[in-house]
Amino acid sequence: MAKLPALFIVFTLMLGLTKTHVASAKTQLTEQFFQGALIVGKTAPENRVMLNGKAIKVSASGDYALGFSRDEKNNSVLTITSPSGEIEKRTLKPLKREYNIQRIEGIAKKIMNPNKKANIRVGEDNKKIKAARTIDSNLTAFAQGFIAPIEGTITGVYGSQRYYNGVPKWPHYGLDYAGNTGDPVKAPADGVVLMYVPDMFYSGGTMIIDHGHGVSSTFLHLSDAYVNVGDKVVKGQLVAAVGSSGRATGPHLDWRINWFDVRLDPALVLKLTPLK
Ligand SMILES: [Zn+2]
Repeated sequence: MAKLPALFIVFTLMLGLTKTHVASAKTQLTEQFFQGALIVGKTAPENRVMLNGKAIKVSASGDYALGFSRDEKNNSVLTITSPSGEIEKRTLKPLKREYNIQRIEGIAKKIMNPNKKANIRVGEDNKKIKAARTIDSNLTAFAQGFIAPIEGTITGVYGSQRYYNGVPKWPHYGLDYAGNTGDPVKAPADGVVLMYVPDMFYSGGTMIIDHGHGVSSTFLHLSDAYVNVGDKVVKGQLVAAVGSSGRATGPHLDWRINWFDVRLDPALVLKLTPLK
């Protein structure tokens, strides 16, 4: 595990100071600001919140969510406006991380270029996943905190990337856990099951759970599902079984966290320091 950079601590203190000077907006920001972080904020429920000029949903209890992508380099501006027109502005600066990069040479061409039929299937899979991740529900489970969905050793981390024959591949956006086929997968927070497809091309048995305000969990390579689309689930509830379906090298659980289409780091929602 990496040590917290000094900059992070300084930045947190600065936020803390700003907070005390703007008591009127009752704004709290409680999360880390690393690249890949889910940020859960709290403000007075009657306030309006905007990120870079775009409105963000605020719950009846004042919770809101936002997130930074793996490679976000730009500062974001968070604007909180009270009903009386008081405006509070925060500049959110994502802290740069270093990711695990591996270079692998001598890969056979057929593995690098999937055939046309496969590409059509992948396109259909991606459409379903994309649609699920546009849902902006009123659930507020994202604010309750997350637990690990499985008791297992972490074998793959967010942000890692391989270069095959010098060509960069899609970075790995999940947290991989070692497991055996059939091992129980639990809901990491309350939510509603948005999607389950048993046989996606790459990700095999794939489940998406909505935690509200665009925050979702995705589980890949599942061998079974114990809940149906539309079911409410509670944190810790058995929802699925570990598998090796799709293009997996062996049984394991790959868990993803999204804020809409922004891919976030599950390790950060578990309050772990960034893993490399
Ligand atoms: Zn994975």
